[in-house]
Amino acid sequence: MSPDSRKIRLVMKMRSAGVSDTRVLAVVERIPRDLFTPPAFQDKAYEDTALPISYHQTMSAPVVVALMTQALEVGDRQKVLEVGTGSGYQAAILSRLCRRVYTIERYRDLLNDAEERFKELGITNITSRVGDGTFGWPEQAPFERIIVTAAATDIPPLLGKQLADGGIMVLPIDDGAGGQSLIRVRRHGSEFDTEDIGEARFVPLVPGNEPRD
Ligand code: SAH
Repeated sequence: MSPDSRKIRLVMKMRSAGVSDTRVLAVVERIPRDLFTPPAFQDKAYEDTALPISYHQTMSAPVVVALMTQALEVGDRQKVLEVGTGSGYQAAILSRLCRRVYTIERYRDLLNDAEERFKELGITNITSRVGDGTFGWPEQAPFERIIVTAAATDIPPLLGKQLADGGIMVLPIDDGAGGQSLIRVRRHGSEFDTEDIGEARFVPLVPGNEPRD
């Protein structure tokens, strides 16, 4: 099967999984997932499967990326914070839908590789740094949208603080029974309305010990 027909098959899979936002589907078609996929898994780049990257981390399955992106309801004037850059695939998708993506990764090597890929694709609206994403990016807050691509036990409080009023955050949360739920949080002033939007399976969000500022 040619790469193009694999891509079409993947987009059809996204549609049947409930991805109806045509902007999201169009961006998935434009961003080459094979560029983010490790050499050993090139044949799986357009399969709907999570794939291992370095440091025992994984890049999410593409349907999950599309569903999370859709749930985030990203607008082209918005600033988006991503915690957990990983391969950079999710950040690249977001970069085509918003004004600027700020993305944080705890492994420098993963981030370096992701930055190379952004350069190769001519993406100039992603700002990235190494660090503990549970602290967010206070210098750039507030963010209209926040996405966390590693599972936390609860909503990291500093991320809640850095979410703009009216903003949306999407993140996987441990359900306490060995599973994870994908949660969408909407902020209204000091209220955070949460909604369970499905099951998830992410690597854990590992809090570091960066000093608070
Ligand atoms: N969004 C990624 C998938 C990332 S997997 C993609 O599209 O490929 C989750 C990533 O979160 C891993 O790379 C892991 O190193 C990172 N991570 C885990 N805890 C973190 C933390 N506290 N701060 C920043 N990154 C973290």
